[in-house]
Amino acid sequence: MTTRRARSRPRLTAVLFLAALVLPVAACGREGSPPVKGPRPEQLPVYRVATGFQLPGSSVWEAARRRGHLVVGAKEDQPYLGEKDPATGTYSGFDIEIAKMLAASLGFDPKTVVFRTIASANRETALQNGQIDYYVGTYTINDLRKRQVGFAGPYYIAGQSLLIRKDEKGIDGPQDLAGKRVCSAAGSTPLQRLQREYPRARAVAYDTYSICVDNLISLQVDAVTTDDTILMGYAAKAPDVLRVVGRPFSREPYGIGVPRSDTALRLALDDALEQHEKNGDWKKAYDATLGLSGVPAPAPPPVDRYPAAR
Ligand code: GLU
Repeated sequence: MTTRRARSRPRLTAVLFLAALVLPVAACGREGSPPVKGPRPEQLPVYRVATGFQLPGSSVWEAARRRGHLVVGAKEDQPYLGEKDPATGTYSGFDIEIAKMLAASLGFDPKTVVFRTIASANRETALQNGQIDYYVGTYTINDLRKRQVGFAGPYYIAGQSLLIRKDEKGIDGPQDLAGKRVCSAAGSTPLQRLQREYPRARAVAYDTYSICVDNLISLQVDAVTTDDTILMGYAAKAPDVLRVVGRPFSREPYGIGVPRSDTALRLALDDALEQHEKNGDWKKAYDATLGLSGVPAPAPPPVDRYPAAR
């Protein structure tokens, strides 16, 4: 496998691709320009901030209370899920909304949440060393990760899929990957599955999926593999260039990562998530964000309150 942690200089294609992502927004309001597909603030739910909320058994909550705000880990380059506006520094997307609705239930004004971008490979360490209070960013719950961190949720079920160039003829699904250069993020479950189940593919790993997509557009790789949610977002933003192919070939239940020992926080987040699913916030948030990449809101999966870690 090839692992490249960073690129030395931005490629022209990166600039072009970014332009493709940014241009529709920039074109907003110009006469004859197409409607902008993106969350509008008035379509997003307003979350009621809990008053008098206490969580004495949670050291993370106590520290956040003293600090006055929550610090939440997220992604910044995943359309409709976790995206950071480079001009304003504002984060948006379904994962960001999940983080905000949970913050409100914990007694914090969602507007005060400080988001910090953490790549797939660094999530466990960030939670273990107290860099963040919790993490919401396409984070698959699995037993291996549960040895290092705790997970509230799940709040969504995704599945591994493939993104290719629109004119690619030779790839219809994972069975066609032998000899192909396939890019994914270091530390992700799709990269592990690719290496384990499709060893004849030539795996290439970068820190983020946006670097993979850049490499796909510039013909450096033949496909990008990760969750369908993430890939559909890239395809929706550049439909003339990219497409998602085949059917999902894994089950990726998304959880909210918390420090492993803070069971009180994990269970409080489970309670909060259920409340927001019941009162319609979850669906409203989905429709205004991830729903824009083309899939109608499914029913949210049942929350899994698993026994405390020993
Ligand atoms: N859900 C997968 C994972 O947690 C892939 C997406 C990601 O890297 O965040 O590894």
